[in-house]
Amino acid sequence: MSEIFQRTGEELLLLQNWSKLSQEVVAGFTTKHGGISDEPFATFNLGLHVSDVVSSVRHNRQTLANLLQFPLERWVCCEQTHDSRIEKVTKSDGGKGVVDYHSAIAGTDGLYTDEAGVLLTLCFADCVPLYFIAPKQNMIGLAHAGWKGTVKNIAGKMVRLWNEREHIPFDDIYVAIGPSIGSCCYIVDDRVIHLVNNVLGETNSVPYRLISVGQYALDLKELNKVLLIKAGMREEQIYLSHYCTSCTDHLFFSHRRDNGKTGRMMAFIGRREE
Ligand SMILES: [Zn+2]
Repeated sequence: MSEIFQRTGEELLLLQNWSKLSQEVVAGFTTKHGGISDEPFATFNLGLHVSDVVSSVRHNRQTLANLLQFPLERWVCCEQTHDSRIEKVTKSDGGKGVVDYHSAIAGTDGLYTDEAGVLLTLCFADCVPLYFIAPKQNMIGLAHAGWKGTVKNIAGKMVRLWNEREHIPFDDIYVAIGPSIGSCCYIVDDRVIHLVNNVLGETNSVPYRLISVGQYALDLKELNKVLLIKAGMREEQIYLSHYCTSCTDHLFFSHRRDNGKTGRMMAFIGRREE
């Protein structure tokens, strides 16, 4: 299977097949290259909350804005608390959390909008970026799912919100599960697996395997896929990236691999104004 995220230049991976769904949509994920931050955030750190020099992060964000031709005042950033709160945003939210962390939308890990000219953004270093699109309804969304957000089922929550509140049929929704830590590198304990089993309920697809007593290799991408299908999505409309952020040292920051002292990649999705 081919990779859904294609590298375009040193700084970016773009979700190119989604431009077939909607030509105005720009969606992707950054690499760790092309910025000005010093170690351990070298070089393209886009997270303001990781004790990097703020002016470097602002410079890096401006670089990304130029590359995407999406000005910073159109970006929306949220606090990201490993919870499952989702907010519908509009152009009037543009600029929140862009130059300082405290102005980010508080207590929120998922964003969606049906307005053009808004770039939804979230920061990552191993957690799972979830991209949502319903081209017919012009709806786009983005969510942050580490193990906590995943077991709180932020994935299922987003598509159910779209279905119930926005009246979008599940058949019109597409989801891409982006670069994140793979089961090759992600070992968790019984406490996490207990919560995984709780959210999974009855299922034949168990996205983890026992590797030693109390130690499991967990496939967070696959778990999010199973939860999306349980929520009502069609499997054919869910796409998975093969990139493991921990293995792919030459492209990505990794919180686990770098022992917590590292930068953040940015996931983004927006619809350009015509
Ligand atoms: Zn790996």
